[in-house]
Amino acid sequence: MRRIEIVLGDITRERVDAIVNAANSSLLGGGGVDGAIHRAGGPAILEECRRLRATSHPNGVHTGEAVATRAGRLPARWVIHAVGPVWPGPGPEADERRKLLANAYRNSIDLAAELGATSVAMPAISAGIYGWPADDTAVVALDAATEAERAPALVRFVLFSARMHDEFHEAADRLGLDV
Ligand code: ADP
Repeated sequence: MRRIEIVLGDITRERVDAIVNAANSSLLGGGGVDGAIHRAGGPAILEECRRLRATSHPNGVHTGEAVATRAGRLPARWVIHAVGPVWPGPGPEADERRKLLANAYRNSIDLAAELGATSVAMPAISAGIYGWPADDTAVVALDAATEAERAPALVRFVLFSARMHDEFHEAADRLGLDV
């Protein structure tokens, strides 16, 4: 049985097997949740990101994809660095990029399962600096969590503001989810 939870909080404090980072394609650091994860987890995470850039991902991580590192000093065991798309504004381009946003959520959940995680915590990917509308990322996120073929037993969305937390609950209500 898969359980989906929606909570208000700071993802760096989550005692789960894996947390997801809304990273950028360089993997070499950014603001928002990415900055918070690197600050709280310490330099071991960035070292491992640099190693991935030097070996398997010389050009960075493509939008919609995800890679895992260990989690340094964080309570979690792994950080899954997912790259979401930048919001292009409403229109056909948004419809195209929404598929990449869904891939970012789906690939993160799938990678967590592949690592053997039984619990994963996820932020609202693309909904900060990348500007994606909150209600839309919430629907894409919850769809990905319900539809993923394989997933940890617990998928917990950890939202950093009351507004984002409400958006996720409203989206869950609209989708008829029991969260
Ligand atoms: P992106 O570049 O993908 O938009 P951001 O990090 O700017 O990524 O924002 C993604 C979401 O993560 C935003 O809703 C932001 O408020 C939220 N966020 C920022 N810090 C944290 C944190 N410590 N825990 C959980 N979510 C966070």
